Amino acid sequence: MHQTSQAFDAQVRVLECRNCGAPGTMQLVDGKFLCAYCNAVNLCILPSSPPAPTQGEPGDHAAAATSADPQAARLIEQQLINPKRIAWVRSEVAKPGTSLALDISANPPVDLASMATITSWTTWISTWLPALREHWLKALPAAGQSLTDAAIQHRIYWLALRLGQAYGIQARHVVKPEEIEDSQLRRRAVLETALQHLESTPYASVLRCHLSRAASHAGDLPSARVWLGRCPPDGDDLEVDGEIRIALAAIDATEGNLEGICQILEPGGDEVPFRSEELTLDALAYRIHAHEQLGHGAVAKQLLRSALKDFGFSRVFGRLRMERIAPRARHQLGLRIVFKWLAIPALVIAAVVTLIYMLG
Ligand SMILES: [Zn+2]
Repeated sequence: MHQTSQAFDAQVRVLECRNCGAPGTMQLVDGKFLCAYCNAVNLCILPSSPPAPTQGEPGDHAAAATSADPQAARLIEQQLINPKRIAWVRSEVAKPGTSLALDISANPPVDLASMATITSWTTWISTWLPALREHWLKALPAAGQSLTDAAIQHRIYWLALRLGQAYGIQARHVVKPEEIEDSQLRRRAVLETALQHLESTPYASVLRCHLSRAASHAGDLPSARVWLGRCPPDGDDLEVDGEIRIALAAIDATEGNLEGICQILEPGGDEVPFRSEELTLDALAYRIHAHEQLGHGAVAKQLLRSALKDFGFSRVFGRLRMERIAPRARHQLGLRIVFKWLAIPALVIAAVVTLIYMLG
């Protein structure tokens, strides 16, 4: 189901060169790295290295942020399926107000709002990608400069996620393995470059979740777990909770742990709600995948109907393709497209034949 790539290997750092923009696997010496493409020396912000989080020490976000313990993801999963945690999510989602600070679809920087809507990724990339890169390069702080302005933090986060999505799409539309790897490395570099500037903010956890999901899609499960394991195990941000749930579902899907997907997204058969529309769609997509692969055809069909009703054909089909899950549902939806295109010439032929008959 998934290609194998080392582009998201969590044991190395991949950053963008500030001079030429090339992604590079960095050998860090004294907080600097040398770009292999243009020989520029880049300054790098290095986080301190506190110990890995352990059970019974909740709230140690700094420790979680930089640890590389593959078991940390298991600890996070245990916390997220805890009934008390699920009850907390339900009560938070039920509260009035729809603050979505971390959802890039709902919350673009004002001057970039025209770039926020995507109906076709191919059109979007050809229209906006060069301009987006210019905004990205302008927004990044100068070497060695710390980033404290909240608006600029959000801007860098938004640009990094959008650029990362675009590079991820590009990786699917090229054929040569080296071109696929290059696009994946660009995606990795833009996300990790943003991460290095946003380390102490809630944005860091979402960036790690996206790196984890990308590693899962690339078939690199050890890295997917390490990226996720660096998120806070008991954070109190509802949006981050949702992002971690979906990243865990992506890990479970890649390793074929279908029960795990159900545990994290619908414990006891009762779906976990999300405030974000995008995460709601992600969760539905993974639940459809889990049930169809478990042989629960009727449940999978019911979930697919519900997803189509709430989100429409193209968003549901696009999401299943993007996540590379639910092959039966994708096949079924793909047939609808084929029948739709066959129906048009058939109707034209029928109309012509009828006209000839009437005139004759
Ligand atoms: Zn360079």
